[in-house]
Amino acid sequence: MSGESGQPMNMGAEPGGKHETDVIIIGAGPTAIFAVFELGLLGLKAHLVDILDKPGGQCAELYPEKPIFDIPGFPQVTGYELTDRLMEQSAPFDPVYHFSQLASKFDRLPDGRFRITTDVDTEITASVVLVAAGGGSFTPKKPPLDGLEPYEEGGSIHYAVRKMEVFRDKRILIAGGGDSALDWTIFLSPIAKSVALIHRRDGFRAAPDSVAKMEELVENGTVEFHVAQMKSLNGEGGQISSVSVESKTNGPYDIECDMLLPFFGFTMKLGPVASFGIEFNEDDKIEVDTEFFQTKEKGIFAIGDIANYPGKLKLILSGFHEAALFARGAFKTINPDVELKLGYTTSNKALQKKIGV
Ligand code: FAD
Repeated sequence: MSGESGQPMNMGAEPGGKHETDVIIIGAGPTAIFAVFELGLLGLKAHLVDILDKPGGQCAELYPEKPIFDIPGFPQVTGYELTDRLMEQSAPFDPVYHFSQLASKFDRLPDGRFRITTDVDTEITASVVLVAAGGGSFTPKKPPLDGLEPYEEGGSIHYAVRKMEVFRDKRILIAGGGDSALDWTIFLSPIAKSVALIHRRDGFRAAPDSVAKMEELVENGTVEFHVAQMKSLNGEGGQISSVSVESKTNGPYDIECDMLLPFFGFTMKLGPVASFGIEFNEDDKIEVDTEFFQTKEKGIFAIGDIANYPGKLKLILSGFHEAALFARGAFKTINPDVELKLGYTTSNKALQKKIGV
């Protein structure tokens, strides 16, 4: 998504399809993105799956504007800025992001490789899997309205935008005041029949750039903005026709729409990784060795908040160290007979070529 730096939105890969790569990474939090860089230095490619519609994990979702003070070399950096920097650093290695997708199925193939299938049937096959799932997958918070289910099943309510085409020529109501609500208001307005945004107050918890763009769209009449609370859903057969709302100034009224997109944030739940046959300890963490951060199963590694070992500190800087050693483990798994030497990025021409220097 657009982030504080105003970088363009990274939509990630189209949902569906079959992909083959060296490493599948579950999660696109800070440690996962840095793992892309470390893998890239060793010539390995990665696909990352995250249920969020943006990279950065907890940094981007839970504290995007808060300064972090313990990242080496950055006396102070916000969650957004750190994510943007990590994305920039790993970009030369062309990682493929599968955003707004849940890694929901895990298969061990007869040839020794692994396959992850997402909830929208994207299949990714690789020799190495890295679980960088943090505290688990972010699960959308639902609006406190009765009778959501038939409309969710009927395709009238969406908690994420997976394919923009689904919203073409539709009357859309977007609810919320954070980055996702504002970004999708901006990005869907050119293709939707109409876009209305509803938020309980006239103030937003989003990047200033996105707020300014949204206000411009409201001013020029492209987007309708309602300061109001949603009260009930109207429609039949799973197809929404309007949402009844109430505002302090205008009282109760209805907003006509074909689709409702509530963006009310997320809670973290361990989610499907618990059923992948990977051993978890009693604290729902994965025990790993400290040489390569490999789990008990060859080819499956874990780093970041989800990984545990004696002395583990759940800090971003620990995840970066784990990423560097994991990458060497991944290399050895894929190239068991190739000797791996340590190279310095300051002086090693082959590494600099990979980075694009
Ligand atoms: P996460 O950032 O948790 O990312 C994991 C990602 O995996 C998530 O986006 C999740 O959606 C995704 N995922 C999981 N399962 C699935 C699945 N099945 N399918 C698809 N996606 C999935 N650390 C510091 O070092 N310094 C600080 O000052 C600091 N301040 C913090 C302040 C707050 C308020 C919080 C909450 C944390 C703070 N932390 C801090 C901790 C830091 O954010 C975490 O250590 C770090 O985010 C862990 O990174 P990660 O990559 O392991 O996982």
